[in-house]
Amino acid sequence: MKLVLLGAPSAGKGTQAEIISRKLCVPAISTGSMLRDAVKNETPVGLKAKSYMESGKLVPDDVVLGIVIERLERPDCKNGCILDGVPRTIAQAKALEDAGIDIDVALELAISDEEAIRRLTGRRVCGQCSTTYNVVTNPPKKGDICDSCQGELVIREDDEPETVKKRLKVYHEETEPLIEFYKSRGKLVSVDNLPTIEATAKVIFRALGI
Ligand code: AMP
Repeated sequence: MKLVLLGAPSAGKGTQAEIISRKLCVPAISTGSMLRDAVKNETPVGLKAKSYMESGKLVPDDVVLGIVIERLERPDCKNGCILDGVPRTIAQAKALEDAGIDIDVALELAISDEEAIRRLTGRRVCGQCSTTYNVVTNPPKKGDICDSCQGELVIREDDEPETVKKRLKVYHEETEPLIEFYKSRGKLVSVDNLPTIEATAKVIFRALGI
C-alpha cells in the first residue's frame, strides 16, 4: 500500500507514519527528515534547502522530487511506503502521478490551528539522535535531556514562534488543497486527532482496515 499522510505541521504525521510503517512492514519516508539530514551533512541538496527550511517556506519542487523519487525506487519500497510530508503541493502530487507513483490512500490527520501552535511551540528534538518530544503532550523523563541517548533537547529552528505562523500559512495555502485533490480521486480517509498517540493510531488502523 502506498499511503500519503496529510495534515498541518505537528498533526502527528511523523509519529503515526512510524506506527503504520511497523504495522504494514513498509518504510516511512519523511521528506522533512531527509532534508534536515541533508542540511546537517551540508550535501548539495542541503545547501539548496537550508534557507527555505529555516524561514518556514517550502523547498522548491525539483529539489524535493529528486530525492523522493530516488528513495521510492529503492527495493524496500516494492511493497509500498508511507509518505510523510510529501506531496506538499498539487504540483508535487501531479509530478508523483506522472512518475508512475500511484497513491492508494491519502490519510488526513485533522488538527485545529490553535492545537497545532500549542504543539509546535512545545516541541523539543534531541540534538544527537533526533528523537522528538513535546513538553506538553510527550515530555522527556528528565528536564531537557533525551530519554534514549541522554543528548540535549533543543528547539528546531523552524519551530520558533514566527516560523510556526509562517508554516501554518504555507500549509493552508499550498498543502490543504491536496485534501480536495485526493477526495476527488476517491482516495481520501480523514481521521480526527485524539488526545493520545495510541488512541489516534487505533482509529487510523480501523479507518484503513489494517
Ligand atoms: P516537516 O518536517 O515535514 O514539517 O518539514 C520541514 C520543512 O522541510 C518544511 O517546512 C519545508 O521547508 C521542508 N519540506 C519538507 N517536505 C517538503 C516538501 N515535500 N516540499 C517542500 N518542502 C518540504
